[in-house]
Amino acid sequence: MTAATHSTLFPQVPDSADAVLEGLDPEQREVATALHGPVCVLAGAGTGKTRAITHRIAYGVRAGILQPSSVLAVTFTNRAAGEMRGRLRQLGAAGVQARTFHSAALRQLQYFWPKAVGGSMPRLVDRKVQLVADAAAACRIRLDRGELRDVTGEIEWSKVTQTVPSDYTLAAAKAGREAPRDPAEIAQVYAAYEDLKRDRAVIDFEDVLLLTVAILQDRHDIADQVRAQYQHFVVDEYQDVSPLQQRMLELWLGDRDNLCVVGDASQTIYSFTGATPDYLLDFRTRHPGATVVKLVRDYRSTPQVVHLANGLLAQARGRAADHRLELVSQRPAGPEPVYTEYTDEPAEAEGAAHRIRELLDSGVPASEIAVLFRTNAQSETYEQALADAGIPYQLRGAERFFDRPEVRKAGIALRGAARFGGNDSLLDEAVDLPSQVRAVLSGEGWTTTPPAGSGAVRERWESLAALVNLAQDFAAAQPRATLADLVAELDERAGAQHAPTVQGVTLASLHSAKGLEWDVVFLVGVAEGMMPITYAKTDEQVEEERRLLYVGVTRARSHLHVSWALARSPGGRPNRRPSRFLDGLRPGSAAAASRTGAGAAGGIERGYSRGANGTSVPVAPRRTQRAPARCRVCGRTLTDAGEMKLMRCEDCPSDMDEALYERLRDWRAIQARRSGQPAFCVFTDKTLMAIAEATPDDESELARIPGVGMRKLNRYGADVLAICAGQEVAGEEDGD
Ligand code: ATP
Ligand code: MG
Repeated sequence: MTAATHSTLFPQVPDSADAVLEGLDPEQREVATALHGPVCVLAGAGTGKTRAITHRIAYGVRAGILQPSSVLAVTFTNRAAGEMRGRLRQLGAAGVQARTFHSAALRQLQYFWPKAVGGSMPRLVDRKVQLVADAAAACRIRLDRGELRDVTGEIEWSKVTQTVPSDYTLAAAKAGREAPRDPAEIAQVYAAYEDLKRDRAVIDFEDVLLLTVAILQDRHDIADQVRAQYQHFVVDEYQDVSPLQQRMLELWLGDRDNLCVVGDASQTIYSFTGATPDYLLDFRTRHPGATVVKLVRDYRSTPQVVHLANGLLAQARGRAADHRLELVSQRPAGPEPVYTEYTDEPAEAEGAAHRIRELLDSGVPASEIAVLFRTNAQSETYEQALADAGIPYQLRGAERFFDRPEVRKAGIALRGAARFGGNDSLLDEAVDLPSQVRAVLSGEGWTTTPPAGSGAVRERWESLAALVNLAQDFAAAQPRATLADLVAELDERAGAQHAPTVQGVTLASLHSAKGLEWDVVFLVGVAEGMMPITYAKTDEQVEEERRLLYVGVTRARSHLHVSWALARSPGGRPNRRPSRFLDGLRPGSAAAASRTGAGAAGGIERGYSRGANGTSVPVAPRRTQRAPARCRVCGRTLTDAGEMKLMRCEDCPSDMDEALYERLRDWRAIQARRSGQPAFCVFTDKTLMAIAEATPDDESELARIPGVGMRKLNRYGADVLAICAGQEVAGEEDGD
């Protein structure tokens, strides 16, 4: 998201092609001026890849070398495509197509369907998972929810890797996929799914690409038509290209080589859908004459943020990691990242809302703040917390802003007002432009303060508020502008899909945040189970999760807040631990490989807990076993059951009283014999070690040791405390 100052919202369009090149460093300039032949840019996050390619297109267009309509720029998310269109327009290169692979393919498919197939294009299926469930039922295969999700993932992977059902078993084995069910069963469900789609006359997301590829492959006349239209191709985030997208790109290109790709292998986050950084890393092999440029200066983030990003990458493994590029920040120093541990998820969301409120009060625009999470399911807790705190937020991003019904209606109302403005008492000419816009939009549901709560009403209000803000910025940049001028600006923006900056905090998944940036980023839910996500099992899957966190960290320009919650719900078991990816990087934690090594400097903040009246109060000091288990030696939060019992990491130095431990073991053997049960049913070794380390003086200290519940306290407490105090215990002497 671009900074919300007037100068950046309405910057001066460069007055010449050469002026477009100003503001690029020498390597970026090399990219921008290499307008012919294959070009590949390999560079880390925030080094100006997207800037280099948007300037490249704008330079080519402004210099008259590239026809705007002959350029197709592709990227992966709607948000990123919207951002690219905005940047191109600001550089005076409106009219260039900037789309996702999917939307570019969909457009071509819709256009060519009547000619290639006849009739109109089938409907796009909206609930794929349901269709997979129906297919499984048809095969009499029962899938639980997790399996259904995983099997759907396998079908998607098969399609983007162009694997047909009969080849799935072999292809999955070759690719080392961990099939969630017997591969033969998956192949069967996949085949049934394809049949069902045909019966119901629908196509899915992957079919859009598959069918476009098929048409371009089979119909040379259509391929020629597409190639005549587009002569220059630019791909952002090329590390995430799937074999199917790559195939489409090759078909668009034909035997030409005017292709410019940019990417960062360390940001590959769509491997689970079949994407691979190999096309990026092997670009020079496939295009021996390619201009290859590397960018290393990070213009986006402070040295503090960059330090964390580099630290995350230093622990990465695999092919992408072999090509990592150490980032060098070009920005002045900023604050250290803040790490906060909360008792539960609602407390974490309230804590974030509390901090956001402070930032807004100190003058940070809401559009410069983002809360990023791993799964969309996490969004709701944050929506609620922000709504409760009266903080505006946006969920949908800016994509398709001008297609939203409320924005269309507002446009009609503004146009009408502009046309009849002179006769409308509301639109007194003496009243300034923003007030006129507010007056018109009040009729559409805009109010000075946002409606309470979340949901559709709130989202509509946010759209109207974005238009009001746009009018304010526009009037500030062009004081003599009239309502008609604003309407013209809106029309132009709608044509270019250049959405206004919505004045709300962005709530987004990490996947959808790629390519974007904010001054302040909250990375929430950075706990084991979420990051990496539970279903990331193989090394490659875990590495992908690490890259996802790297993407999250590198979205921040200066303020980075990293947080996690020890339990899901208030009062729940606090059995979560912060993400392993932060080991050795967050304060007080030891490095992943050797926990006894020096931990990172600084401190972890205590979070906020939910007060009885719903307000935030500081977390109370630890009282019971429900509090987080931390290593007594290094302070790390413990989640391993054995380590929790020991109350320290397995390999942190122990200060156990060995003689006491032996006496406790002897005593345990007698108890076990007497009660006729195995020794570990009395107390496990770990619990005895913890007792011998803690040497509790009274019942409350003993109760605090994990593994000592009420029942055991009542039954054995007196004995154990006596042994710890060095006293003889009745019956101890008859031991072996
Ligand atoms: P990502 O890998 O996250 O997509 P990127 O490499 O595409 O990052 P950009 O988004 O293009 O990076 O640039 C990051 C930020 O740095 C942007 O705010 C951009 O305007 C700024 N920037 C890039 N190059 C320069 C430069 N030469 N001078 C000043 N600012 C720059
Ligand atoms: Mg980028």
